[in-house]
Parts: sequence; structure tokens; C-alpha cells
Amino acid sequence: MLKLNENYLKLPGSYLFAEIARRTAAYSEANPGKRLIKLGIGDVTQPLPAACVDALRRAAGELGVKESFVGYGPYEGYGFLREAIVENDYLPRGAKISPDELFISDGAKSDSGNIGDIFSEDCVVAVCDPVYPVYIDSNAMAGRAGDYIGGKWTNIVYMTCTAENGFFPELPARVPDLIYLCFPNNPTGAAATKEQLKPWVDYANEHGSVILYDAAYRAYISDPELPRSIYEIPGAETCAIELCSFSKTAGFTGTRCGWTVIPRALVRGGESLYDMWMRRQSTKFNGTAYVIQRAAEAVYTPEGKEQVAGLISYYMGNARVIREGLASAGLEVYGGTDSPYIWFRAPGGQGSWEFFDRLLSEANVVTTPGAGFGPSGEGFIRLTAFGDAENTREAVERIKAIL
Ligand code: PLP
Repeated sequence: MLKLNENYLKLPGSYLFAEIARRTAAYSEANPGKRLIKLGIGDVTQPLPAACVDALRRAAGELGVKESFVGYGPYEGYGFLREAIVENDYLPRGAKISPDELFISDGAKSDSGNIGDIFSEDCVVAVCDPVYPVYIDSNAMAGRAGDYIGGKWTNIVYMTCTAENGFFPELPARVPDLIYLCFPNNPTGAAATKEQLKPWVDYANEHGSVILYDAAYRAYISDPELPRSIYEIPGAETCAIELCSFSKTAGFTGTRCGWTVIPRALVRGGESLYDMWMRRQSTKFNGTAYVIQRAAEAVYTPEGKEQVAGLISYYMGNARVIREGLASAGLEVYGGTDSPYIWFRAPGGQGSWEFFDRLLSEANVVTTPGAGFGPSGEGFIRLTAFGDAENTREAVERIKAIL
């Protein structure tokens, strides 16, 4: 008889954003005249940089001409894009990554969800709490999480990130095989220093663990001293895989392009993890569209760089408005300086969902309840800076008005 993957059946009911959408729709239906401002889901609102749109058009034109037409591309992505990424995002920061250690993908979600394919079902997984839910759910689907009891998975090592430890985890007592780290962090907005990351690199090298470093928000780091890549930390090339994305850097959330770095020096059990991921990708993935890779390449042209800098500064302007506005109203506010997320404590000891509902019904602002990112997110709310500037200002005024 056919058997299902029972790991899927262990997953808790609704995905966080589905529940937010359900509550929002129910409120709108009951209150049709109210104009909601959505600062919940971390999706961008500003259009693609003009340099990327031009490149998309040009690439589409090439595909319509026999001489420049291309079919299937290389599994690891085109050299032109891998070279542009390395020359602009790694070498200038002293990270000695080579283009033949990169895989172009359709975004960091797929790669962060799929990378587990090359690791055993028995691996012990550690995640920060609160956390981007994909790391946990994808490991639960693969059978690594155990059972979901009382809001936690029995086999996952939760590394608490609270205001007390500056939203940066301590080295766990139980040694994990796979360690997910994400900085700048979603949802807390915390960024990591080189001094904070170095002990993790040493720990992973010492114990043979692998760090899965999600740098999807690297472009939002404004402090030049903070690392944008784990490979700015000596020793990371023998213990870390890095996941990156054009989604938040250049508005590619719908366009879809990202990359994953697996250094050639990263070997476990005598096997090259680069070779294993290549084997996986060449079997299950046929590449990111040529036109999209050309659009991503345009991010690194002089015009592209200027336009991307404009986008980042637009969103960081929103982050400042939210951070300063909420702090001036007496709220305990974190993030929003090197990250597009603002994480604040619900006033008066209210729970995340309780305050989410109040913000929805009284301020007509849609947010994300911190509890949806893990037990340590309880009592917090996440706001995104990816909204429209005018709406963001209005949302902050509305929130202040109900406090
Ligand atoms: N990683 C983190 C931490 C994210 O917050 C997100 C999206 O919100 C992603 C990865 C996914 O990015 P992409 O659009 O590249 O799939």
C-alpha cells in the first residue's frame, strides 16, 4: 500500500503567513471601509532597478535570435554572474571565494530548504529561536526534527536569542551537526560582528559541524566593520555554506535569483560538499533562467549599483521612521539599523497574537507576531521596512496613537 511521507503529517497546521492572511481577511470582511497598511510579510514594494529591467529586455531579445539563443544553462549558473558576484561581493571584502565555488539558484528559500538533501537524516540540527521557519520545517520534512510537542520539535537544538544575549546565540552544549545562522537576522533585525562569529567558526571546525549561513539581508548592513559574509571570518571556508539572494538587495522577490557558496575546502566524511551539491543540483535542478541571470548581473553595473543603493536607502529610511517613531512612544525597539526588520516588545506584557490583533483592529496595521517565529519570539512583534514610505509613516503614527 502506498505510504505517505509521515514527516509532513507531523508539521503544525498553518504556516505563519497563512494565519496572518486569514485574520486580516476576516477583519477586512467584517470592516469593509477600513484601509489596512501591511507591514507584515517581508516582501518588497519598490520596482526593479532600471538597469535590471534593461538587461532583462536585452536578454529576451537575444533569445529571439538564432545566433544568441541559449537553451539549458550550466547547473551551477553562468560564469558571467558568478564572476560578477565574486568580484563585487567577496574579493573586495577579503573573502577569498572563487566563482567555481558558487551555485546560482532561484533564491535562498529553495536552497536553504533543499541543502539538507546532502546530509544524513540523523544529523542534529540547531537553529536560533526565533527563526526563519523554513530551516525548521524543511528539516522536519526530512525527518530530522523528531516530534512537535508543546510548540517545539523534540530533536531540534533551539538556541535562544533574546534581548538579554543581544539576540545572538550562545554555543550549544549538545553539539549539532548542522547549525543555521542568519545575519542580519530575520526576524530580530540583529546583525553579527566578526568577533561574535569567530567562536562559531572555530567551534564548527573543531566539532566537524557545518554552518549554514544565511546572508539574504547582507545588503542592509550599514556599519562597515560588520561582516557581510561568513567568509570574512578566517576558517569559514572549511566549515560554512553561505546562502544569498537578490530578493531583498534588488527587489527580486518575484523575479527569483540567489546563490549558494560551497567552498572547495569544505569536506566532511572525506567527501567534497561542493561535489555532492553539484550531484544534487544536476539531478533535481535545471538552472535559473538566462534572462534572470542577466538581470542579476546588471546589479553590478555602475548604474545598477547606484539604483540598488537608492533602494536600500529608501527602505532604511522606512526602518529609521519605524524605529525612532516606536522608541519615541516608549516601546522597547530592536533592529532596523543594519537590517530591514524592526523587532519590538508588545507593551504591558501582552502576547504576540494579542497585540497583533489589537494593531489590526485598532490601528489597522498588519504586522507579524513574534511568536510565529518560535517560542522565544513570544511577546514581540516584527515590522518590515519594505513598505511604501508614506504608508510606513502613517502606520507608525497610527500605532503611536493607540498606545
Ligand atoms: N532567508 C531569509 C532569512 C529570509 O527571510 C528569506 C525571505 O524572506 C529568504 C531566505 C528567502 O529569500 P528568497 O526570496 O531568495 O527565496
